[in-house]
Amino acid sequence: MIVALLGNQNSGKTTVFNQMTGSNQKVGNFPGVTVSKKEASLRGHSDFTVVDLPGIYSLSPYSAEEVVTRDFLVDEKPDVILNVIDTTQIERSLYLSIQLIEMNIPMVIALNMMDEIRQQGSHVHIEELSGRLGVPLIPISASRNEGILELIDETVRVAKSGQKPANLDLCSGPAHRAIHAIMSLTEERADAAGLSSRYAATKLAERDPLIQKRLQLSENELEAIEQIIVLMEDELQTDNLAALADMRYTFIDKVASASIHKGSGEDLLTERLDRVLTNRFAAIPIFILLLGLVFWVAFGFPGTWLSDQLTSGMGWLTAQIDTALTASGLNFVLHSLIVDGILAGVGSVLSFLPLIALLYLMLSILEDSGYMARVAFVMDSWMRRMGISGAAIVPLIMGFGCSVPAIMSTRTLPSKRDRRLTIFMIPFMSCSAKVPIYGAIASVFFPDHAGLVMVLLYLLGIYLAVMLGLILRQRPNTSEASPFIMELPPYRFPSLLSVGRNLWQKIRDFLRRAFTVILAVTVVIWFLSHFDQHLNFVSSSDDSLLAWLGAVIAPVFKPLGLSDWRIPAALISGFTAKEAVISTLAVMSGATVETLGPTLAAIFTTPSAIAFLVYVLVYTPCVAAVAAARNEFGNWRDTWIMIIFQLVAAWVVAFIFYRLALLWGISPLATIGIIALLLSLPILLNYRAQRRESRERAA
Ligand code: GDP
Ligand code: MG
Repeated sequence: MIVALLGNQNSGKTTVFNQMTGSNQKVGNFPGVTVSKKEASLRGHSDFTVVDLPGIYSLSPYSAEEVVTRDFLVDEKPDVILNVIDTTQIERSLYLSIQLIEMNIPMVIALNMMDEIRQQGSHVHIEELSGRLGVPLIPISASRNEGILELIDETVRVAKSGQKPANLDLCSGPAHRAIHAIMSLTEERADAAGLSSRYAATKLAERDPLIQKRLQLSENELEAIEQIIVLMEDELQTDNLAALADMRYTFIDKVASASIHKGSGEDLLTERLDRVLTNRFAAIPIFILLLGLVFWVAFGFPGTWLSDQLTSGMGWLTAQIDTALTASGLNFVLHSLIVDGILAGVGSVLSFLPLIALLYLMLSILEDSGYMARVAFVMDSWMRRMGISGAAIVPLIMGFGCSVPAIMSTRTLPSKRDRRLTIFMIPFMSCSAKVPIYGAIASVFFPDHAGLVMVLLYLLGIYLAVMLGLILRQRPNTSEASPFIMELPPYRFPSLLSVGRNLWQKIRDFLRRAFTVILAVTVVIWFLSHFDQHLNFVSSSDDSLLAWLGAVIAPVFKPLGLSDWRIPAALISGFTAKEAVISTLAVMSGATVETLGPTLAAIFTTPSAIAFLVYVLVYTPCVAAVAAARNEFGNWRDTWIMIIFQLVAAWVVAFIFYRLALLWGISPLATIGIIALLLSLPILLNYRAQRRESRERAA
């Protein structure tokens, strides 16, 4: 049996899903976190599958998610709809509920966030509301695990008994007459198409083209329906969509005023915080300060201290294993594989776990508290200058974590152009897998300012993304960005449970990657760098197979000051997963976790280290991200354009930085001048675009 979880964005569906199934899906206090449907079996009822669907507000044919949901309900025929409602936003939530009720599928409503209702001093008369809607209601608080068992029981009961919503008439007035007239006209057609006649009639009254097609209506029938609609529009003096929305809200108002008593404690906290955090002047400085705090905790003292502890712990462990292996007289090739290969490679990556964990912890606190949604709101006008919707900020910020879910979440963006441009921009947001690379190199070449260098790299990524947005905006024929509609969720104290879950998930992902992909790459690289073309074990990796291969590509990187054969090898292994860049460097140089620093100092100079960092920042993301992009683009052409663009851009930007770093040694003043010029480019581009636009408008 199938349970379909449905509700508005941010109503707590994924939290309910996790509680009901014991799984660990991502929960976030901003809309659009769940983009594709997720399935798992119901706790204690293995014959039930729960499906978590993206959040929607209505069942209109205009948004991809809503159409996907509609098709799911009609084609997969779930045995029960579990409609999760944010009870603090009950009027708006019921707008979707009553459309779901019209579909005439067994249904249970979960009144979520009851803890907040209590806090506000509000009261919901459950029986009254349930009677008026004709659907069983269960009050719950998903994040506190209250009422989940009752909810499971009721869902199972309704599914097994097939209890449909009581057949209540939700409509009134001229809209009522229109819907019933259409119903009597199309009842059989709806039956044949497997739709509830009431749902079909309401959608036809909305002139829904998908339903018109689905019912295979004849010209005459369509004409008759059109006349009924026009009649209604004339009578109400408005268009059909407004008429139906009005009808629904009239019904909701009646139901709500009879069954809900609003307390006085309505979100004062949110109002007060928003006055500061979304203030016209303070918002952006506060955002920058908070991001600064995030980076300081992750890359400043707290993160590096933890990471140093872990490094020395692993160094000790490696030394113990090394001595033990020597004592045991193990074959020297195997000994090398274990110590120089696996321990060095995987260890060099593992030591950055604390930095990444802290970065994720801070980001998920920002997200869970509801702050990220404000960032999207505040950034909207800035994003518009690049011609994309403010909603794009959500995938972009997700990109700091991992490009793959970030690229997938572009699906929620309104236009194709927005999606495409955002996918191009996401790889510039340094993902957490790049942290080990930045960290390892910055701590060697900028020991006193490693944290600062890392932050500058993040900022450079953002700068490049902005430049890309502005440059592509210059292109003719780009249609206007679509309007951005996003609701601001209330601020919530981050739930320990969900932040902890998010964090644990990330740590597990990271460990899994370290012991699968990174381990595999490490073994391959160890092999290639310890054997020569004739498969003899070599004492110096300079004579190895890999050195021979690396030398072929090395000339490409020579203008960047990167002439060592190990560099192309490291960059290529980075395609599998970005952390592999650093484990590969460690293995090829025969470094242990603790001697990685001096080894890196021998491969790079300070200017070439800068060029390398910049190259890593810009060049093509890992295969998983490319695959995700291919999936969202839906074609290989755009995917290849993206890959080639990134390779070329990385080379060019790294070249500029290498030259600037060299120039710094000759004339710091000139260098600063050039950097200032580069920094003002976006402002110039923006100015030009605006001038052109106003000229066009005048014309
Ligand atoms: P979805 O978008 O519908 O999947 O919603 P999520 O499950 O991602 O939850 C949105 C936000 O609401 C998260 O910050 C949750 O921690 C929070 N949340 C979920 N259930 C409750 C609840 O019962 N009470 C409170 N106060 N917050 C909740
Ligand atoms: Mg969700």
